Amino acid sequence: MKNPNKKLKLRLSVYFIIIVSAELFSILGASIAFSYLFPLIADDIVLPEWVLILAFSVVVGVACSIFVNKVVLSKISNLSRSMSRVAQGEFDIELKTDSKIDEIQEIYKSFNLMTRELSATEMLKSDFVSNVSHEFKTPIGAIEGYAMLLQEKNLTDEEREGYLEKILSNTGRLSDLVGNILLISKLENQSIGEKREKYRLDEQIRKTLVMLEPKWSEKELELDAELENVEYFGNEGLMFHVFNNLIGNAIKFDPRGGDLILRLQERDGYVIFTVEDSGPGINEEHMSRIFDKFYQGDSSHKGEGNGLGLSLVKRIVDLEGGTVEAENRACGGCKFKVIIKKS
Ligand code: ADP
Repeated sequence: MKNPNKKLKLRLSVYFIIIVSAELFSILGASIAFSYLFPLIADDIVLPEWVLILAFSVVVGVACSIFVNKVVLSKISNLSRSMSRVAQGEFDIELKTDSKIDEIQEIYKSFNLMTRELSATEMLKSDFVSNVSHEFKTPIGAIEGYAMLLQEKNLTDEEREGYLEKILSNTGRLSDLVGNILLISKLENQSIGEKREKYRLDEQIRKTLVMLEPKWSEKELELDAELENVEYFGNEGLMFHVFNNLIGNAIKFDPRGGDLILRLQERDGYVIFTVEDSGPGINEEHMSRIFDKFYQGDSSHKGEGNGLGLSLVKRIVDLEGGTVEAENRACGGCKFKVIIKKS
């Protein structure tokens, strides 16, 4: 975009020069005119010649100022008043102008863009707070409920154990939630650079699979993994979250006895990782939002996550300079694909 401020400054200087020159010309013109006219009308005029010249030049000066004020200054003071309202936290402002001056139009356009962005950020912030509060409320409510049930006398050992298990699983949920929120906020203010090291991506994926083994064997999933040996230079700790979340989701959404297909390849200096499942796939209306914070498209699995997994994945892959995308498979289920340049 061109720099409207610079051009406006230039234009204002031109207006200033026009006013000053108009003043000088009007004084000059008035003196010449009066030196010819004065002798003819002198009889009727009682005021001295210099007063009339001054009066004439004041009229010309005021006319010029009104013109400049109408054309430029009123638009600028309007902008300045709106700026003060923005400074006080009022972002719901849209300025309109009928000005023919390009630079004023540019500045108004930038101002409107700024207020739009600010209101969107403000909305995100308040959404974030209400989402966090909501996500905390559910497990805390559950813990409270089961703790109260535990206070009952005459509980069987089985009931007691069942309630304790619920309390533990909800504290686990809370701790995952806190961990994810902390990680996301840390990643939003950090670059990945500091902790890069060389390591084998295929080994990391295998370790993740071993860690998740109780979940996929409990569901009797058909595992099909072809992982090429890939040496990678990156942040191992963060990349773990990428694989853990993507594979974890595939397992979570897969039906009993479903497929879990993993591929890791290196092609033309890029690392390509895909994970496929034979679950329900992702609705078209949810597809564009699955990487948003706290977004959970599928209500049947709401209790098993917090909607932060994919936004973490996206943030980490972004920081690694790569891309992550999802698509539905023609045969059912979905496929997530991560592509990262091998540095
Ligand atoms: P969650 O904790 O809910 O899994 P994520 O951020 O990991 O949060 O995922 C966001 C949403 O994306 C999920 O709620 C679900 O609707 C959708 N999703 C993610 N992975 C899959 C998958 N493999 N199959 C179907 N839907 C998925």
